[in-house]
Amino acid sequence: MSSVATKAAKKPAKNAKGAQQAKADPDLLQHPIFEELGFPSDAHNLYRQTVGAMLQAADLIKLPHQLQIVLAQPKNEIMVNFPVRMDDGDFRLFKGYRVQHNNALGPYKGGLRFHHDVHLDDVKSLSFLMTMKCSLVGVPFGGGKGGIKVDPYKHSKGEMERIVRRFTSAIAHQIGPDYDIPAPDVGSNAQHMAWIADTYTFLSEVGGHQPEAVVTGKPVEFGGSLGREKATGQGVVDTLTEMLPEIGVDIKGCKVSILGYGNVGSWTGRIMQDRGAKVVAVMDHTGAIANEQGIDAHALAVHVQKLGGVAGFKNAERIEKEEFYGMKVDVFVPAALEQMVQAPEAKLLNCKVLAEGANAPTTPAGERILEQRGIEVLPAILCNAGGVTVSYFEWVQNKTHRAWDLEHVDQELNKHMVRAASKVREARRRYKCNLRTAAYVGALERLKAAYEVRGIFP
Ligand code: NAD
Repeated sequence: MSSVATKAAKKPAKNAKGAQQAKADPDLLQHPIFEELGFPSDAHNLYRQTVGAMLQAADLIKLPHQLQIVLAQPKNEIMVNFPVRMDDGDFRLFKGYRVQHNNALGPYKGGLRFHHDVHLDDVKSLSFLMTMKCSLVGVPFGGGKGGIKVDPYKHSKGEMERIVRRFTSAIAHQIGPDYDIPAPDVGSNAQHMAWIADTYTFLSEVGGHQPEAVVTGKPVEFGGSLGREKATGQGVVDTLTEMLPEIGVDIKGCKVSILGYGNVGSWTGRIMQDRGAKVVAVMDHTGAIANEQGIDAHALAVHVQKLGGVAGFKNAERIEKEEFYGMKVDVFVPAALEQMVQAPEAKLLNCKVLAEGANAPTTPAGERILEQRGIEVLPAILCNAGGVTVSYFEWVQNKTHRAWDLEHVDQELNKHMVRAASKVREARRRYKCNLRTAAYVGALERLKAAYEVRGIFP
């Protein structure tokens, strides 16, 4: 089987002939703000791509220039280098990031990515998306994101604990339950959040300000919320339930393929199956599998938990990457990393709807092809906002010393997702634009209203 797409492949080196040639690239999004703020003139730059999509919506609603420049750059970019003792007694130096994009609507909020290939531009893009997502889904948070350049699967539990605790101490003065609240993302989990909360509690002056609320996505035994683990997948399915009828697809009986079978992909698959859909193909970093009769999404989740990937799952056949993308389905859910649906993948896809479980999985070139081919894209800032919504519920529960039952969490999540989906539909009607632009319109209108009353200091 051919190797699956790697993260390195998505970021071609900058063209040596420089900006002039890059300018000629038809995939390079243009906007005067890029020149003004000195953005890299590289069509593949993730930050330029994500901000570019927002600026299209900003122009449509005539967002004032001062807000366009404020939102086009993060407020703070924090980078730390810290040493950690390995099991063999040697020290290794690690690099960590925390980017605080915007806090006009509330404390910075967003996950921590533990990945060997995480870069400042990735973290900036993801923090920007958090600002937009929180605004669209109506939670009182701004946007932040962070990470550590580390492969968590290559370290013992003890080494990971020391890495996470040392990183927490390095950024302890930059985070806080009312200032910046991290959460899990790719490569990080509830155990890591527990170590962060515990370390922060020791480092902070304890005095009735719920230091454990400094992170969400904690284990339920230590201030976590019921329903948080599945929340992003649940939000993807809530969004599909809202949006599929007008696209003429019935969830019951619809066929789904999923790229990435970690937290978001596996919960989306399991909940879709429980609602009557059939998961027919899945691909992750270990390979791709398919079964036209349906893959048992629950059994596959257990398999992945045990063996680390979908490869070797018994009741499905192994397929090539191209076959996976070309599989005829109703819904395709990218739930792995950014920029995985580029032009070649967009040409192969054989679906009616692409529901972005991952952040920024579709490049502008990929999206143009999908649009030409009549494939509807449900944008990430709507589709995967369930995670941050239930993170907000966890934070509220910590702050009020209460524990909600699962039914209440699911009902409240559904209310937020339904409201956000109808905002997006309404913006699309008003502006006759695609769903991504409509989602940004919904997000920007709330931010604009907040800035109008807050003003810009001084
Ligand atoms: P995860 O680490 O649990 O899973 C990531 C999945 O991606 C794994 O199945 C992995 O095998 C797959 N993957 C990695 N590299 C791949 C490659 N080259 N080819 C194919 N598959 C590959 O991460 P997650 O938490 O499920 O996050 C997935 C995406 O969803 C990310 O974009 C993340 O930012 C976004 N997201 C996550 C949450 C959340 O609550 N966890 C919320 C919103 C958005």
